[in-house]
Amino acid sequence: MAVSDAARAAGFIEKKAELNVAAGAAPGGASLIGLTRDQLKDSLSAIGVPERELKMRVAQLWHWIYFRGAKNFAEMTNMGKELRAKLAAAYTLARPQVVSEQVSKDGTRKWLIRMPSTGPLDKGAEIECVYIPEVDRGTLCVSSQVGCTLTCSFCHTGTQRLVRNLTSAEIVAQLIVARDSIGDWPDATPPEGAFVPNDGGRFVSNIVFMGMGEPLYNIGDVIAAIDVMSDGEGLTLSRRRITVSTSGVVPQMERLGAQANTMLAISLHAVRDELRDELVPINRKYDIKQLLDACRAYPGLSNARRITFEYVMLKGVNDSDADARELVRLLKGIPAKINLIPFNPWPGSKYECSDWERIERFSEIVYRAGYASPVRTPRGRDILAACGQLKSETEKLRARARMMAEQGIGAEGVYALGDGE
Ligand code: SAH
Ligand code: SF4
Repeated sequence: MAVSDAARAAGFIEKKAELNVAAGAAPGGASLIGLTRDQLKDSLSAIGVPERELKMRVAQLWHWIYFRGAKNFAEMTNMGKELRAKLAAAYTLARPQVVSEQVSKDGTRKWLIRMPSTGPLDKGAEIECVYIPEVDRGTLCVSSQVGCTLTCSFCHTGTQRLVRNLTSAEIVAQLIVARDSIGDWPDATPPEGAFVPNDGGRFVSNIVFMGMGEPLYNIGDVIAAIDVMSDGEGLTLSRRRITVSTSGVVPQMERLGAQANTMLAISLHAVRDELRDELVPINRKYDIKQLLDACRAYPGLSNARRITFEYVMLKGVNDSDADARELVRLLKGIPAKINLIPFNPWPGSKYECSDWERIERFSEIVYRAGYASPVRTPRGRDILAACGQLKSETEKLRARARMMAEQGIGAEGVYALGDGE
């Protein structure tokens, strides 16, 4: 029996294949989902809305799309019938297609999302997006690119060729899809039995850019998407609860801090240049010293807004006591949190995850030096929703799931970052 059948039989996975949530969509027209205020303004202008009305109309659309989660223009009752008809004739509120949704027994959800085709030769880029609910927060892990141009040796996404950057609208659309699916709109309710936070806040309270891609290689669209996500009259996510993770694109870090004002996570993974050159090859361009200098200069850095340093635990590679002590020494003077990530193996990967005792010992050294050093708790093991494992082609995913189950390997990783204290 294939793993998915076995798991389903055991009641672990609810798989909804070929799910399409493009409710209310008229075929053909461009979707307004994910657009910025300026883009909405242009869209209204293009259908003849007079200049003097534009500001008000954008505000109305904004409220319906991003505050209420409207799926039809017909719902927008404070806009005239004529305008609604014009909008419906020219545009849609279609979401990207949800090809499949998998729900882990721990409540973690993973969606395979297909973006609309951009031309006759494009069948539509596929990306993955993961939702990790906890009692007091819900974290959405979003992708910024399809694939990645970088080739970190322990990362599965790095083996996939880059198809393209995602647009800001496609990045925002991941949040819209998640909210649709878990009923996170004012008049919606979560699906029967769904695990969502119960602290009275939003079901998606945190965003991490830790899916596919290097966000700082798509920084313009990432910043535009963050502006839409954090807008106080729409999706209202706090910038303190948005974390952008980078492998170390030093020249763009200042801009991210100054313009997006989000939390920063750095994929450090090694404390010596020789090893980091191999694990995170962008280190050959921007070495550890340059990277840490850029961290010290990150706008808004303070004890209340620390940088998270991610460190993947690779058996016999970067996990010695000496590595832990060097890590502490390197980060001296930088307000930091250290996140130890158990390595998530994938077929063909040449590393193993450090033994649990080794991770504990490493964590102990870091903790004694005064750093909180949470080890990411395994989440979504049964649906392969782990960092570094996201690779969108459905077939490959199935093959990997089968292989990993045969080898007794589980996926792990939780993305509980941002305003965590
Ligand atoms: N490109 C960005 C963000 C996406 S990767 C970056 O590299 O920071 C998100 C995190 O998952 C990074 O810290 C990355 O190093 C880590 N990661 C990648 N592959 C992994 C794996 N196989 N096991 C554990 N963590 C992994
Ligand atoms: Fe790209 Fe990040 Fe994976 Fe490196 S770890 S290959 S930067 S997605």
